[in-house]
Amino acid sequence: MPNSLDQRVAVCTGTFDPVHLGHIDIIRRGSKLFDWLVVGVGDNPEKAPFFSAEERVALVKEVVKPFANVEVRAFDGLAVKFVRDLKARIMLRGLRTLSDMEYEFTMSLMNFNLDPDLETIFLMAREEYSHVSSTFLRQIASFGGDLNKFLPPVVKEALEKRIRERGGR
Ligand code: ADP
Repeated sequence: MPNSLDQRVAVCTGTFDPVHLGHIDIIRRGSKLFDWLVVGVGDNPEKAPFFSAEERVALVKEVVKPFANVEVRAFDGLAVKFVRDLKARIMLRGLRTLSDMEYEFTMSLMNFNLDPDLETIFLMAREEYSHVSSTFLRQIASFGGDLNKFLPPVVKEALEKRIRERGGR
């Protein structure tokens, strides 16, 4: 992580349960817009994760290897605090649909209230990924559907293995 103040650092947080091509597209595009991009892998307190935090971090690390200015870290608690602790000021998010928009708009207002020095920057999802979510991919995997279009091979294998361990296909 660079410590010079002229470096533009952005932070992209999420659960990444698991990371998919929609996430990777946002990370790739973000890595071109900023000098340094930290991907923060957190927990959603309302959902029991399919993969442990360590597993999710390991998968994200694996798939961001091609991007030299991207770093992956686990975090606990509030995303704004994580961003602050990194001394960054920009939160990067992806927007898929109108329903995402409502949720993300509310969340960015909430984050702005929690810390007015932070700005949230949104990138529109590419059309081919705009319907892709980790939740759907877990469901498709549990019914044995084709995941090749949405997941890198290493993530696909990990997801299929986890489904088998859970007694699915
Ligand atoms: P969360 O658990 O906070 O919803 P996710 O792990 O699902 O987080 O997503 C992390 C980030 O990636 C969020 O900014 C989310 O909007 C974005 N994202 C998720 N899926 C896609 C997609 N298919 N295309 C673009 N951005 C996406």
